Amino acid sequence: MKQQICILGSTGSIGTQALDVIRQHNDLYEVYCLTANNRVDQLAAQAHEFKPAAVVIANEAHYGRLKELLSDEPDIKVYAGAAALEQIVEAQPVDMVLAAMVGYAGLAPTIRAIKARKKICLANKETLVVAGELITRLAMEYHAPILPVDSEHSAIFQCLVGEDMNEVEKLLLTCSGGPFRNFTAEQLAHVTAADALRHPTWDMGAKITIDSATLMNKGFEVMEAKWLFGIPADKIQVLIHPQSVVHSAVQYADGAVKAQLGVPDMRLPIQYAFSFPQRLHLDGPRLDLFSRPLEFFEPDMRKFKCLALAYEALNKGGNMACILNASNEVVNAAFREDRCSFLAMADIIERTMQRATFIEAPDYEAYVATDAEARRIAAEML
Ligand code: NAD
Ligand code: MG
Repeated sequence: MKQQICILGSTGSIGTQALDVIRQHNDLYEVYCLTANNRVDQLAAQAHEFKPAAVVIANEAHYGRLKELLSDEPDIKVYAGAAALEQIVEAQPVDMVLAAMVGYAGLAPTIRAIKARKKICLANKETLVVAGELITRLAMEYHAPILPVDSEHSAIFQCLVGEDMNEVEKLLLTCSGGPFRNFTAEQLAHVTAADALRHPTWDMGAKITIDSATLMNKGFEVMEAKWLFGIPADKIQVLIHPQSVVHSAVQYADGAVKAQLGVPDMRLPIQYAFSFPQRLHLDGPRLDLFSRPLEFFEPDMRKFKCLALAYEALNKGGNMACILNASNEVVNAAFREDRCSFLAMADIIERTMQRATFIEAPDYEAYVATDAEARRIAAEML
């Protein structure tokens, strides 16, 4: 029996690479559902190739066009809207859900998939940033496994295999440093979105590429690691590693450090989340350890204030990371549209964290309200 996969965000960077994995292993995996937000033509082309049972376009304005493009595929059900997207993950035949949407929008469908007891392959880190406590609690309650897709967390997960009984001393979370690693504060004041979108080692969606340039992405990943592996933030060390060869590492009680290395190719962590505990063949280049030296540096949190703000949100707890995420989504989009400077992003996030209502023990509704309030406050400051 082939595993039936529902891909949330199939037209994105992670989504298209996941489809490449499925293409290579079509004896093991089958696409049950494909979803996207706006890219209706690409979604229809994917549906023609993979013949899923259903497709969902989140933006309802594109429903007519999608229906028309798939008029020659009577067996493919076509839906539109956020509610349809949340429902489709619950479909009985679905074995696993790849959460590869970007941003806060991934939270609601991921919760629905957990409650439907599906295996979750999680790329959408914002889900754990916003509501890590709620998500991990629900995953336990509904016995829904969460497999990391983020490369660093997949690396840590791979280093933890077979070590259940052993004490972890710390996690070593690597970070390329982004395109502005060696820039001065003066230079950072003038960088543009086009500069930031040229990431040195990874080819990713626009939002996460900007988050990688500010190091907010690494702050998010510290939170993600805390929730996925139950390790407190003071035992998670961020290391700047410009070559992106060591994808992350775990240090154990005896001082041993286990790391996972490889070429930067997201298909490996995607495939490992699908196939765990098995390793499957993956085509592509292999790591050449002779090619260049490996370097490691401490991050500069004064220059990259977003990383410091993420630690602050982590230490504060409650809904503070939700406030951080919502304001970050606002300034990230504004920076990409030249409505906000690079350095103003951290300032607006910081001031939103000071102004938005703090809630010590939020439930789902509180997260929804916090997200809306923080977006409004941040948008007013643009
Ligand atoms: P992307 O922008 O390339 O793709 C995003 C996908 O989500 C698209 O298919 C889009 O249609 C869909 N989408 C966006 N907004 C939506 C909405 N409101 N409703 C429904 N669908 C929506 O992004 P990406 O780079 O593939 O990243 C996806 C997620 O994976 C992010 O959370 C990111 O942080 C995480 N991630 C990505 C990478 C990477 O290499 N790209 C690595 C690690 C983690
Ligand atoms: Mg990552």
